[in-house]
Amino acid sequence: MKSDRFESWLQNIYHTQDEEISCTECFNLVSGFVELELSGEDPAIKMPQVKQHIQQCAVCREEYETLRDLQRFEDEGGALSLDDLQDLIH
Ligand SMILES: [Zn+2]
Repeated sequence: MKSDRFESWLQNIYHTQDEEISCTECFNLVSGFVELELSGEDPAIKMPQVKQHIQQCAVCREEYETLRDLQRFEDEGGALSLDDLQDLIH
C-alpha cells in the first residue's frame, strides 16, 4: 500500500517543521556553516538547521558546496583561475 509511504512522508514534514529554515535563512547562515566545517568543527552540532536544509534542498546544497570549495581554495592560499571557477559553477 502507498499509505505507509505517505504517512512517513507526512511524519517527516511534521518532524522537521519546528527547525526548518527558509532558503534565505540558509543562505545567510551557510557561510558560517562552512567556516565551522573548515575549522575542523562539526557544523551540524551548532547549526543543525543548515545541515538539515542542505540535505533537503538541492539549490542550497550547491550553494554550500560552491562556497566550501571557494573557501578551501582561499585557505590554501591559492588563487582561483577562470577554469577553476567554471569548474565550480558549471
Ligand atoms: Zn534551500
